[in-house]
This record gives sequence, structure tokens and C-alpha cells, in this order.
Amino acid sequence: MRIALYPGSFDPVTNGHLDIIERSAKMVDRLVVGVLVNSSKCPLFSMDERVRMISDLTRHYANVEVAAFEGLTVDFAREINAGIIVRGLRAVTDFDYELQLAQTNKVMAPDVDTMFLATNLKYSYLSSSTVKEVFRYDGDIHMFVPELVQSMMKMKLEKQPDALG
Ligand code: ADP
Repeated sequence: MRIALYPGSFDPVTNGHLDIIERSAKMVDRLVVGVLVNSSKCPLFSMDERVRMISDLTRHYANVEVAAFEGLTVDFAREINAGIIVRGLRAVTDFDYELQLAQTNKVMAPDVDTMFLATNLKYSYLSSSTVKEVFRYDGDIHMFVPELVQSMMKMKLEKQPDALG
């Protein structure tokens, strides 16, 4: 059974992430989307909220599941028996960091390989931080994230007006 882990902060999940999930899920038997607990000191969404939103948005894929994790990605990959770590590459700016990460992981866990998927051209500019920045200034984010994420962002700001700084 081919198991892959797609780790990230997903704060929030964007159409770019969902595209990587859809494409990589077709290549493996089981895809675990791993939500990093301590990715940033003050994420917009709690770990539970991020897990919930990704679970809702991927429930139509029979082989995709979502889990939170803390610590090293390779340790979590081993825990779930994943032999593949999936990462997305948007531009050359991602490359240095991603290559360094993949090589470090390979040294720590030679049995786990990183698989890079090139971003869908439609989403090559897209990042969670851009979405938050646009939303912060009342911009329209419907091209960047699903409706569920938009409404969770609206609710978050209604409850916590200073959530985006
Ligand atoms: P991290 O904090 O681990 O970089 P992110 O949630 O920002 O977490 O991203 C998780 C992964 O998804 C990374 O490999 C990132 O390069 C990739 N990714 C993010 N946005 C896109 C996009 N628009 N298209 C393709 N891959 C993306």
C-alpha cells in the first residue's frame, strides 16, 4: 500500500493546496494531509479549525484523511507508515528551501522520499499569507479559497477583529 503525507500549515487551506491534494491523492493509495500544530506562533486558525476545514473540503476523496501533528515531519511520516512526503513547488523562490528540507529529511529518514508537484499554473501566485493580506484589507478572496474558508475567515474576524493583526 502506497501511503503519502502532505504536510503544511494550511492557515488557511487555499485552492492551490486543494489542487495538490487532488492530484497527489490519485497517485497513492492513501494520502494523509498533516496539519502542523506549531507552524507559527499565532496562526489565524487553531489546529482544530484547520483540520475541520480541510476534512470538510476533502470528504469526497475516499483515500484522503486529515491529521494534526507536532514535531518532525519525518517522525510523523514513519508513524503513519508513509514512504512519500508530498510538497508543492510554486516558483524558484520555493525551490531552495524545499530542496534543503527534502535533503535534510532524506538524511534523517532514508526510507522516506519527497515528491514535488509543480503548482497548477492557475494557482502559482497563491499563498495562505497573500489570502490573509487581501482579506485584511477587505479584498475579494473568492478566487483563492473555497466558500467554506471565506465564511470561516469572516466569522473569525467578526469574533476577533484583531485576528489579522
Ligand atoms: P508550510 O508552512 O509547510 O510551507 P504551507 O501550508 O504554506 O505550509 O504549504 C504546504 C505546502 O503546499 C508547501 O509545499 C507549499 O509549497 C505548497 N503550496 C502552497 N501553496 C501552493 C500553491 N498555490 N500551489 C502549489 N503548492 C502550494
